[in-house]
Amino acid sequence: MKILMCTNCMDVFNLKLEEKTCTCGKTCGKYLDELHAVFKGPAIPMGFTNSSLIKAVNNQPLEGQGEEFTAFVIPKKCDTFVKIDEDS
Ligand SMILES: [Zn+2]
Repeated sequence: MKILMCTNCMDVFNLKLEEKTCTCGKTCGKYLDELHAVFKGPAIPMGFTNSSLIKAVNNQPLEGQGEEFTAFVIPKKCDTFVKIDEDS
């Protein structure tokens, strides 16, 4: 699951095929298909490892420590999550 974190307003949000924008309006992004996505603005592209998220959800504890899952920052050069130049 692809995620954007706007470094201006610190919103963290998932993407859909319809473009989504953060609260401050500086970051936006959308999926182009099931794999490829694009974004604009001062954002850090991130991902949740879907399998680990599903496992954590299924193992939600009643109390105590939360169940961890894997999230990662996507490299600046990524063929499937591309930052669009503001001027293009
Ligand atoms: Zn923002």
